[in-house]
Amino acid sequence: MASAHSSFIIVGAGVFGVSTAYHLIKQYPKASVTIVDRDNYDADHRVAASWDWNKVMRADYQDPVYCELALEAQDVFTSDPLWKPFFHQTGLYWMCGRDYARNCMANFERLGRTTGITVWSVEEARKMFGGLFEASDYTDVEQVLVNETSGWVASTDCLRAVTQRILELGVKYVSEEVATLLLDRDGNCIGVQTATERQLRGSHVILCTGAFTPKLLELSAAAAGVDDLRAGSRILAGAVTTGMVPLDDDACARFAEMPVGFQGYTMPFIGSLPPTKDRELKWWGQKIFKNTTEVLPGRFISMPPTDADYAQWRVSKTLKEDVAQVSSAFYGSEAATWKLEKHRICWDAFTTSSDFIISPHSSSKGLYLATCGSFHGYKFFPVIGKYIVQMLHGSLPEKLAKRWAWDRERPEPAVNWPRWEMRDLMDPAGTSRP
Ligand SMILES: Cc1cc2nc3c(=O)[nH]c(=O)nc-3n(C[C@H](O)[C@H](O)[C@H](O)COP(=O)(O)OP(=O)(O)OC[C@H]3O[C@@H](n4cnc5c(N)ncnc54)[C@H](O)[C@@H]3O)c2cc1C
Repeated sequence: MASAHSSFIIVGAGVFGVSTAYHLIKQYPKASVTIVDRDNYDADHRVAASWDWNKVMRADYQDPVYCELALEAQDVFTSDPLWKPFFHQTGLYWMCGRDYARNCMANFERLGRTTGITVWSVEEARKMFGGLFEASDYTDVEQVLVNETSGWVASTDCLRAVTQRILELGVKYVSEEVATLLLDRDGNCIGVQTATERQLRGSHVILCTGAFTPKLLELSAAAAGVDDLRAGSRILAGAVTTGMVPLDDDACARFAEMPVGFQGYTMPFIGSLPPTKDRELKWWGQKIFKNTTEVLPGRFISMPPTDADYAQWRVSKTLKEDVAQVSSAFYGSEAATWKLEKHRICWDAFTTSSDFIISPHSSSKGLYLATCGSFHGYKFFPVIGKYIVQMLHGSLPEKLAKRWAWDRERPEPAVNWPRWEMRDLMDPAGTSRP
């Protein structure tokens, strides 16, 4: 059990890792808390899914657990001076199914949080926001949910600011790649070994390694000879492509007050975020993919490409077209004239249910996991660490402990499960351009 005398090694400085460090150091100001990441927290580019221009902050979930958790996070984003500067409460426009709108509303009603949330017919909704979504593709859309309290977060800026804060509070930051976990003879986890063979030891090792988690566990299982360390079918590394378009003065005036836009919840699940401070509009594509690779002889897992930057800027023509197609689905022919830039492949860890894994590892005492954002984890940044610390204490409410357990029954994969193989979305050899 965690205490003021424990020493914590957190691997990964994305939102799961930084939030854990934040809540730990606030609870135990004198504890030894070290966060290790391959990238500097203020590097120009990072591989973290949490490193991004912007992320959607919304509590519009059918699932009551995530609705309540997101409201808790949203309350921090709207009130706490550390987080507030990064939240833009632009509202959200969600083209969805009738059931989705009804289930979200039921959650808000149960929690007494219905102010600013309305449901509209497609005809009514098309006229809203100055007709910005007039030309959108409403195939299979039954209703539009508008939530004025949702919005987006300037995600990299927020991640940097909170990391800076935890360093001021006494957390140590080590910029190194973790090569393997360190296990003692009894299989207990006692620390990590970095790629430069430096050993960092602690009573608690918490993996917040996102899409890299299955690979790190495979390598550690092989090094320690403990097969059960592996993630197996629990976690899949998957990715999607994003693209930005810089807006000219006219377009910027039209889109300046736009809400976050979502389309669909069955298939496809696509979205568009309002302009950033650099006047850029962002989309993500519809093709969610994995990268099945032989990580060790005879061992195949999905993992990000082996390049130090996960090859995140090497985006094929097929994937760029995927993003461009989504921009037209939102803004019709107007989007055809836009030149999309800054394409990026963003990797995250998935579970079949889109639930997180926040749990002790059942095969190695001292080892814990806090990962599997499943494409929706950023918004919980201010509060997720509180629950991770509860897990370390063994005091996570039973409902959450079961839901986020390492060992549990898992359902069939959710809609956004990575079904494509990355190799099938690459350009033919020799035709790629940067
Ligand atoms: C395109 C895209 C759009 C998204 N949009 C949204 C959104 O709008 N709203 C939302 O709420 N969520 C969104 N998400 C999901 C969200 O970004 C992620 O769920 C969340 O950021 C995951 O955080 P994390 O801390 O688990 O992982 P990450 O942010 O990926 O951080 C993991 C960190 O671990 C480090 N690491 C890994 N292995 C090692 C190692 N061996 N040694 C050292 N360091 C290591 C990495 O360098 C990285 O910094 C989106 C995700 C993607 C990909």
